[in-house]
Amino acid sequence: MNSSKGRLNQVYFPKDLKEGVIEYARENYPNEIILLLKGRLEKGSAYVESFVIPPLSRGGRTRAVFNMNLLPPDRSIIGSIHSHPSGFAIPSKEDLLYGLGPVIMIIGLPAEIRAFDKDGNELKVNFI
Ligand SMILES: [Zn+2]
Repeated sequence: MNSSKGRLNQVYFPKDLKEGVIEYARENYPNEIILLLKGRLEKGSAYVESFVIPPLSRGGRTRAVFNMNLLPPDRSIIGSIHSHPSGFAIPSKEDLLYGLGPVIMIIGLPAEIRAFDKDGNELKVNFI
């Protein structure tokens, strides 16, 4: 971890966004949902401020996909959140490989949200 930003260890996530995204994931069950996370990174902490719906997002039973090339360059995108309809909020190999940005958040339905860095290390999530 030689990044100048240092290693991430926690995520701050607004409570109202938590309720909203869980509801969105439940509505789309059994399909996966994926949203981009906007916010900022500061001294080992990621602060999530809002979501962005990725262009051409398409839910699928196995994986939610979207076309990265359609994304405008945006430095405030710090990662993504997607659902695991199976209920296990554990990142798959693909999640870590193709994860966008340093923060990978997973919703394990019905109501669990966990966060990981790109190496698969779990990050503490503070709902604020
Ligand atoms: Zn996944």
